[in-house]
Amino acid sequence: MSGINYNPFEIAQEQFDKAASILELDSGTRELLRQPMREFHFTVPVKMDDGSTKVFKAFRIQHNDARGPAKGGIRFHPHETADTVRALSMWMTWKCAVVDIPLGGGKGGVICDPHNLSAAEQERLCRGYIRQIYKQLGPNLDVPAPDVMTNSQHMLWMLDEYETITGGRYPGMITGKPVGMGGSLGRTEATGYGVIYVLKAFLDQINQPIDSTTASIQGFGNVAEYAARKYTELGGRVIAVSCWNQSDARAYTFRKETGCDIDQLAAIKDSFGSIDKEKALELGYELLPGDDWIKQDVDILIPAALENQITPAVFPNISSRVSIICEAANGPTTPDCDSLILQKGIALLPDFLCNAGGVTCSYFEQVQSNMNYFWDKDEVHQKLERSMKKAFRAVYELAEEKNLYMRNAAYIIAINRVAHAVRLRGWV
Ligand code: GLU
Repeated sequence: MSGINYNPFEIAQEQFDKAASILELDSGTRELLRQPMREFHFTVPVKMDDGSTKVFKAFRIQHNDARGPAKGGIRFHPHETADTVRALSMWMTWKCAVVDIPLGGGKGGVICDPHNLSAAEQERLCRGYIRQIYKQLGPNLDVPAPDVMTNSQHMLWMLDEYETITGGRYPGMITGKPVGMGGSLGRTEATGYGVIYVLKAFLDQINQPIDSTTASIQGFGNVAEYAARKYTELGGRVIAVSCWNQSDARAYTFRKETGCDIDQLAAIKDSFGSIDKEKALELGYELLPGDDWIKQDVDILIPAALENQITPAVFPNISSRVSIICEAANGPTTPDCDSLILQKGIALLPDFLCNAGGVTCSYFEQVQSNMNYFWDKDEVHQKLERSMKKAFRAVYELAEEKNLYMRNAAYIIAINRVAHAVRLRGWV
């Protein structure tokens, strides 16, 4: 790595400031939108299985709720910081706005490593989190969802605690619930599929058949796995997948020139996304260092893990063949790379557009929960594909019309919508 300590919140503000200047946004709106409206920092005491008590630091941050209740995931991560959650809450506002769903932006986090917690300890952590913050959450206030290292079971424990405290049934209070317990069919795969719907729409625009392309993917968690599945289903070839290995505390890149078999890799991964390297070797995969995913001679790079992965320090490792970076993670590229990407003529499909499929499906989940009537999977996927393609087209057309970098075009559309809402409300 470069040794530069990238601060996600400063990055989110820098990206915002660039777009706000192009937009000539007035200073009041700029001041309001470049920081969160509300922040909650709290501790969650958890009784551990051995009888001791551990105290976890936790956050819920609401960036903006002018267009609707705050919306966004809760992450469990050992390196969580207030600034990461601030940035992610801000990106949620733009994400909901760019796909034009009536929700604002929020994010939560707990500093913890769920690998080291038993299921019972995780349940107590989820319930403890809700006990500390339930007054600030609710279907019309702020609606959490799964994120890095949280899943539908965590969401249901949180919902159950909320309903126990408040004494009612509020399925719209949280999304990403298990199917049959208020969850939507198709939610699990929605973020990954959404990434590929955007990629496919772009490839169609530039008349490049998807089955003529190859890709390298960083990550093999929920987003990466389903992006890889949809991409291969449409005919693309995934040459490499990089993924964290919990027992070795490092990442590896699994490479197969003839194309990775995603079902096969999924069958040998654990619930946190670590692929079993011995089994992969037996199945004929090459095992390379984790950072090598970026060096692959492919058409498309899909960073689908964490923030700050594509930096100027690793940028020279990108093959001259790469023509598209499709950002599936939140904030995977640092702003000092944007000019390098432009110089190299690489098309960048920005994060909060590409990965908006998850929250779009969360919105569908809320709609279905409110009606208490659930759609079949095809209907969910069709609606999702339509929303993602529509959002992409608006970004692409603005970028073409005004000769803008697609990240700036996406920001301009999103900021305009939020700015319009705060003005209509009379906040500025
Ligand atoms: N955690 C997902 C994201 O970052 C989904 C958020 C949601 O569904 O509210 O977009």
